[in-house]
Amino acid sequence: MTIIDGKQTSLDIRDEIKKEIDDLREGTGRVPGLAVVQVGENPASRVYVNSKVRTCEAVGMHSEKYLLAKDVSQDELVELIEKLNRDEKINGILVQLPLPKHIDEELITETISSEKDVDGFKAENLGRILMGEEDCFKSCTPYGIIELLKRYNVELSGADAVVIGRSNIVGKPLAALLINESATVTVCHSRTKELAEKVKQADIVIAAVGIKGFVTADMVKEGAVVIDVGINRGEDGKLYGDVEFDGVSKKAKAITPVPGGVGPMTIAMLMKNTLKSFKKYQNLDKKN
Ligand code: NAD
Repeated sequence: MTIIDGKQTSLDIRDEIKKEIDDLREGTGRVPGLAVVQVGENPASRVYVNSKVRTCEAVGMHSEKYLLAKDVSQDELVELIEKLNRDEKINGILVQLPLPKHIDEELITETISSEKDVDGFKAENLGRILMGEEDCFKSCTPYGIIELLKRYNVELSGADAVVIGRSNIVGKPLAALLINESATVTVCHSRTKELAEKVKQADIVIAAVGIKGFVTADMVKEGAVVIDVGINRGEDGKLYGDVEFDGVSKKAKAITPVPGGVGPMTIAMLMKNTLKSFKKYQNLDKKN
């Protein structure tokens, strides 16, 4: 059984990105820039935002952090995003979700210019993923999962994959990316009938549900590859995935742990998308 080490893989990707940024700095005198916007003091958001800013520093990327009060008006937030859309130092804009209730998340997401939508949350980028276009920003978590599977030489073409969860940021784009890799994809969700039987058919199981220990050993085929996207805080304060790791790891051929699996890959792919945006802006993507 292989533990799929997302932490190490994300560090490898960060190294590759850093080398590329070092070369770009030498060649152009410029580096990619990411703006991260946080509204209010949600503790989980703070951890994610700080970790993204720290990763920017680690790879030599320029970053700007905007911490806005929880009662900031929607108009003020739109104004900031529009300013960042025009800012030449900024190649990627990320607004940390969730936003307070008085702000329309969809409107904010759609205000980010498509060229700077490095989270890949805009309808346009989701549509491009669905069309199988390579030249778009793939949502970071699904993109990181595909990258992890590829780097661990998991055969995707012709594989039976079951994705549990149908959110716009994980389940749906992941299903599309897997189809683009020629997997046969079943998407399960809260209304799915006989979910366990469907999961049991899968060569690759990907759980993005948000329920601790949702996938148990009896649901998984012997030799399956299991990817756990879930991040659930247990009563003991520790982080748990959607997969009951101890039992499932005895049957799986390969499995991601939580923490140290999909999570670190998400941030690595955010860096990759921001670098891609910079190269596009500088018109360097065609030259490489
Ligand atoms: P979400 O709440 O938007 O979606 C959850 C999905 O699970 C829904 O589509 C729903 O239909 C399905 N679901 C809920 N109950 C179910 C049930 N009983 N049976 C079958 N399906 C059920 O969540 P999300 O944003 O997609 O995130 C899912 C999980 O992944 C969360 O734990 C989240 O914290 C985590 N997450 C991790 C990362 C990362 O970087 N590792 C990134 C995003 C989300």
